Amino acid sequence: RLEVQGLFRSFEGREVVRDVSFSIQAGQVTCLLGPSGCGKSTTLRMIAGVDMQDRGKIFVDGQLICDTVFRVPPERRAIGLMFQDFALFPHLSVADNVAFGLSDPAREKRARVEDLLARVHLAHHIDHFPHELSGGEQQRVALARALAPRPRILLMDEPFSGLDERLRDDIRDETLSLLKEEGTAVLLVTHEPQEAMRMADEILLMRGGRIVQGGAPYNLYNAPVDRAAAAFFSDIN
Ligand code: ATP
Ligand code: MG
Repeated sequence: RLEVQGLFRSFEGREVVRDVSFSIQAGQVTCLLGPSGCGKSTTLRMIAGVDMQDRGKIFVDGQLICDTVFRVPPERRAIGLMFQDFALFPHLSVADNVAFGLSDPAREKRARVEDLLARVHLAHHIDHFPHELSGGEQQRVALARALAPRPRILLMDEPFSGLDERLRDDIRDETLSLLKEEGTAVLLVTHEPQEAMRMADEILLMRGGRIVQGGAPYNLYNAPVDRAAAAFFSDIN
């Protein structure tokens, strides 16, 4: 379980994240949804620990991992990351890419890698290199890599951008079922209402650095908090 309380972040005197608070649960996908520039990636970077908030606290399973004086380094947060440019290591095979973050003994490591690759339907590509795979296949390798160390929390920043529409729907569905099987708590950033409606158990609607509404997808769709929120959802059918 991830909880953030009262996060603030400014750049050059401009507040881009303002008083953001929410929590996400194991086995659930929470979508941080909002237009370009509203502060989504900045929020994710602070949770990952690669940027630091000006004010506010972050907890994982009830334990403080970051406030303005105390800070657990990113690699010790048990938080997995999957960002927009899901770049794989080009000189490593698919198997070695997925195994990259694992410290298990070799045999268990191999079992975990084989299992994950089978579940993203890439068992036959295990000894190939990234340049031998399509974009969608590389994206699935990146997902397997992010899940390999069994992070309790997975942060995903626009993970499906750059894929063509038809492929994206398939990969969204596949990703969702794998995440549910693993029981990971997921915070997924997107600027596309359709994506949030399709993936989320809960949506956090963000605008101008603030969360303006949170709740189940149908609640946001049926009872938008204001005209801007209604307009944002209006092109979904
Ligand atoms: P998008 O959907 O386009 O990815 P976003 O919601 O992820 O947008 P952020 O990347 O969080 O937006 O950026 C929020 C605002 O903060 C933007 O106006 C951006 O220019 C600014 N910003 C982000 N990082 C920095 C930085 N390191 N220095 C200065 N300004 C920054
Ligand atoms: Mg962003």
